[in-house]
Amino acid sequence: MKIDILTLFPEMFTGFLTTSIIKRSLEKGLVTVNLHDFREFSKDKHKHVDDYPYGGGQGMVLMCEPIVECLKSIASDESFIILMSPQGVTLNHGVAVDLSKKKQLIIICGHYEGFDERIRDYVDMELSIGDYVLTGGELGSMVVSDAVIRLLDGAIRQASHQDDSFSQGLLEYPQYTRPASYDGNDVPEVLMSGHHENIRKWRKYQALKKTYLRRPDLLEDYKFDQESIEMLKKIKENDCNLK
Ligand code: SAM
Repeated sequence: MKIDILTLFPEMFTGFLTTSIIKRSLEKGLVTVNLHDFREFSKDKHKHVDDYPYGGGQGMVLMCEPIVECLKSIASDESFIILMSPQGVTLNHGVAVDLSKKKQLIIICGHYEGFDERIRDYVDMELSIGDYVLTGGELGSMVVSDAVIRLLDGAIRQASHQDDSFSQGLLEYPQYTRPASYDGNDVPEVLMSGHHENIRKWRKYQALKKTYLRRPDLLEDYKFDQESIEMLKKIKENDCNLK
């Protein structure tokens, strides 16, 4: 996969691209990430990329031309062009999975008051990372890239994301590591029993319970099998007040 990020602040990406799983994914060649400073595409002699809003008002608006010229230099038929925007579709696991199947993602980061509205004619999707406003699209583009890259084959072991929250439509079950007892709080016996089937059932029950208590909305789309129907019944009868 190829990810091209259009930004006025490429220096913000240094830590992101040189750390941990993202760094290793780049080294393994699973993904290439290219940063493009669209200021270089400004035809203005002072390299301006923004201007005052028509009609007046606060702040500066990013002009279409430098962004579109930059897009033209990198886009192909295989590109999927994303505009980072608080007005877009909200990123979730399903969106990340869809994006992870694309050959090339181009992500445009806004700044200041945002974009000239006409930029929207040149993109495939507007994507938000939540209902709040950031100063720029850079952090959002890193969030999107991170969520996508970790889904690529070879980035992390398949087994480590298949039980992650949202992957199977539930929140993840509780996890524990050493020591077995900490501050009077013990790891559940079953996890130390070595009994794989009991552990599987415990984890499924706990994942259902956590989801029911914290994110019941997720259960609307969850594909229940007989076992999970019975588990949820039990959770509702016995367990729903326990956190
Ligand atoms: N005036 C714009 C509005 O109210 O919709 C907000 C502009 S914001 C200050 C500047 C840029 O940050 C946006 O163009 C976008 O690229 C990025 N941004 C801000 N919040 C975001 C969010 N929640 N999700 C994705 N991108 C965001």
